[in-house]
Amino acid sequence: MTDSDTPQATDATAASSASEMPPPTFDAIGLHSLILQAVKQTGYTVPTPIQAQALPEIMAGRDVMGAAQTGTGKTAAFTLPILHRLMPLANASASPARHPVRALILTPTRELADQVFESVKRYGLYTPLRSAVVFGGVDIGPQKEALRQGCEVLIATPGRLLDHLSQNTVNLSQVGILVLDEADRMLDMGFLPDLDRIIRALPAQRQTLLFSATFSAEIRKLARTYQKTPVEIEVAKRNATADTVTQIAYPVAEQDKRAAVVHLVKSKGLNQVIVFSNTKIGTSRLARELERDGVKAESIHGDKSQADRMKALDAFKAGELEVLVATDVAARGLDVAGVPCVINYDLPYSAEDYVHRIGRTGRAGALGDAISLYTPAQEKLLIEVEKLIKRPIERGELDVPKAYPRSSDRALSSGAARDRGRERGSDRGRGRDRTYIEPPKPPVDEFFLKPYEPAAAATSTRESAKQSTAKPAMTQRKAGLGVLLGAAPKPVDKDTAPSSESAGN
Ligand code: AMP
Repeated sequence: MTDSDTPQATDATAASSASEMPPPTFDAIGLHSLILQAVKQTGYTVPTPIQAQALPEIMAGRDVMGAAQTGTGKTAAFTLPILHRLMPLANASASPARHPVRALILTPTRELADQVFESVKRYGLYTPLRSAVVFGGVDIGPQKEALRQGCEVLIATPGRLLDHLSQNTVNLSQVGILVLDEADRMLDMGFLPDLDRIIRALPAQRQTLLFSATFSAEIRKLARTYQKTPVEIEVAKRNATADTVTQIAYPVAEQDKRAAVVHLVKSKGLNQVIVFSNTKIGTSRLARELERDGVKAESIHGDKSQADRMKALDAFKAGELEVLVATDVAARGLDVAGVPCVINYDLPYSAEDYVHRIGRTGRAGALGDAISLYTPAQEKLLIEVEKLIKRPIERGELDVPKAYPRSSDRALSSGAARDRGRERGSDRGRGRDRTYIEPPKPPVDEFFLKPYEPAAAATSTRESAKQSTAKPAMTQRKAGLGVLLGAAPKPVDKDTAPSSESAGN
């Protein structure tokens, strides 16, 4: 242990709230030296507020209920102390029997599972602890093999884990630590019955950690059911938006929104923008059209294979794409370093999704811009957001050069409007402002109300999302700090849902 890691306040988390004492160093917290070595190699100098508060509690074996926005460093806040606690049991034996699953981390989406797995591997690099990840949408065979090899830390989405349980390819009888990551999203996505089945397969004597963007009544109920007198840690105010994110909204006619995105990307020289769309079909179309407009773009949504989603994400991370068009579910949990800007092409139907979306930028202290595009009829969604975040969002004016292609003739009249009508299964919106579609009711998908059926190996999840955009003066982001993307949607109604998504089954 050294004192070399002098705390740097600016490295701490964006929406950090408050700690009464100066933040401790990672050394002072007392992490195992092999884990500390990896932390230092990652470049972290000072624990973020959630880390400073959660690490000692989790290391002491207490149940923790943590509320933290994405981007606050919450993944390390639970993975570091879990690895620390497992170190006394770590061994270099080749025998799988010596590597039983001791910590189980459940996440709502495949992407989040994969990224938590990456974190566990990174922080556990110098330890002999083994880890594995299982999620739906990919061949189960290699996962069975990985489980057969043994792993002390298993990261999983609920549906696929149940598949493994039903096929006896995983043994959870020695799990001593359970993490429910993004528990609010898991509930939103209807995973409660699956969680219940999984947790019943675990030893009653265990440490349970629960992380959620908010402490809703449902989350508190979940905590009461599965935790023992948890320590509550809250580092960001409920529904707060990070001060490091500049928020602005531009009134733009629906048919001009695409041109507005092109204009923003080109005029601001943006090279990594996440554009949120509310529908899977809209996501794909917008990416295709942006490509035609000369913007390097790809889309991710739940109808794409896991391989395609990973490919798009890798290209985005590598800087090969200027724009990643995403639905809320697909974006949930993605960790992309240094996203300077998100654009709401569609404003989300749920104001909470706005908070999750703009949490993709301004992460871990970096600066970011959140731009929303709205038609006059859509302004009410913006007002809902303002009520939720308890601050006004600046309105700006955007002059989109006439030279940019509009969507009115092609996409809107013959494509978008028709597609949207079809997706919503209704004629709502016709005969009125053809560019504005009434937001659907919060979706309810029967899929999520049914108990889990192992044979089905369902890999779909429903979500809805929408796009909106805004453009402000771009801010410089801070190099080297990570950014986690990802908001998730609500389950969707077949009639009104704009799209359905594959998630964490
Ligand atoms: P998370 O909220 O876990 O998704 O983390 C958001 C981002 O912050 C990730 O890219 C992490 O790599 C990064 N991060 C986590 N802990 C720290 C830290 N102590 N200092 C700087 N960055 C961090």
